[in-house]
Amino acid sequence: MELLFSQTREYAEERDQRDELRSYRREFYIPEGVLYMDGNSLGLLSKRAVMHMVEAWKQFGIDGWTEGDKPWFYLAEQLGGQMAPLVGAKPHEVVAAGSTTTNLHQLLATFYRPCGNRTKIVANELDFPTDIYAIKSIIRLKGLDPEQNLIRIKSEDGRYLREEEIISAMTEEVALVLLPTVLYRSGQLLNVKQLTEAAREKGVLIGFDACHSIGAVLHQFHAWQVDFAVWCTYKYLNSGPGGVAGLYVHEKHHSHSPGLAGWFGSRKDRQFDMDHTFEPAGSAGAYQTGTPHILSMAPLSGSLEMFAEAGMERIRKKSLVLTEYLMQLIRVRLDGMGFTIGNPVEEERRGGHVALEHVEAVRIAKALKAEKVIPDFRSPNVIRLAPVALYTSFADVWDVVDRLKRIMEERTYERFQQERGVVA
Ligand SMILES: *Cc1c(COP(=O)(O)O)cnc(C)c1O
Repeated sequence: MELLFSQTREYAEERDQRDELRSYRREFYIPEGVLYMDGNSLGLLSKRAVMHMVEAWKQFGIDGWTEGDKPWFYLAEQLGGQMAPLVGAKPHEVVAAGSTTTNLHQLLATFYRPCGNRTKIVANELDFPTDIYAIKSIIRLKGLDPEQNLIRIKSEDGRYLREEEIISAMTEEVALVLLPTVLYRSGQLLNVKQLTEAAREKGVLIGFDACHSIGAVLHQFHAWQVDFAVWCTYKYLNSGPGGVAGLYVHEKHHSHSPGLAGWFGSRKDRQFDMDHTFEPAGSAGAYQTGTPHILSMAPLSGSLEMFAEAGMERIRKKSLVLTEYLMQLIRVRLDGMGFTIGNPVEEERRGGHVALEHVEAVRIAKALKAEKVIPDFRSPNVIRLAPVALYTSFADVWDVVDRLKRIMEERTYERFQQERGVVA
């Protein structure tokens, strides 16, 4: 095996010195003494997330909608414009709104229009549950049976999906395909471009759930002609628990009325006419519903500034180097300890986290927490470790593997109970 990195901690420190993005680490609140490897579940709070919205509320009261340096009335669209480069979209194709789940409901209600024989939705058996629940409920709302109209692509090994298999399921009975960009458990990055081209050729609409890729992986949604997408912002984008999510709709669809209409989807210049005839905005803004959750957007505006400065290319590059480094340390230093790397190793198929499998994963995850390493456990046997480009150092990665090694050698995980916590 060819080793790309040296094994010493000095080497990790030296890599940190050379890291172009190292200054961003100081921009985050990292809990004292903690190695935080869970930025793929809940990103850390950035110091720039100063609560300007609270300040504006104090200072302006209702006039905060139009006054101050970030008037609330335009904030959802403004943040959409700032997120657009992260997904490779035009500014007016993206808006900050709702949650991933409500945005899924919105865009399924907008784009799932079963007609004649085309009534089926293609998803997959490794999907995040909320995506499946949303799909089943929209099928039922259209008066159809999910048993007959939801196709869940199977995974041979319980980890990965094969693009060819998804493509061959895009038959003339399929109305819509909804897929994750990156699978939440194994971290497999699907070939979004290939899948989108195939869907277009076959006359099928395609949407993506980008929760596990936004802020970690590069996308070209507009150029690839992805029809629509949704994502949350509290993972790699650090917007905080329940932070306002994002949605993208390709501009060629902006004439489609939203399936779930609400007054904040109105043309901005007409919204306060209070007319009972809805005039949707000619942008992704049309797919908002009610008053935006302004206070839950404040952290995002701080975090997105850093993404713009650092640039997604550099962020993706560092993320790939960190996950490569982590995988190498695991292979070399934890050899023979029963671990399997359960994520794709190729760069073009790898998301932002490493999926470490072990039969004792539950107890090892607990032992890691006791050692001040914050991993994330996914039942039954996966420990997800996400080194985040903006705030994880090479030395952190080295220390995580070092602590893991100690936990395995000293078998300290045996002191913990085998069942998982409520939030795992
Ligand atoms: C985190 C995540 C969600 C979460 O949806 P919410 O509506 O924010 O609770 C949905 N889908 C995927 C793939 C996720 O990873």
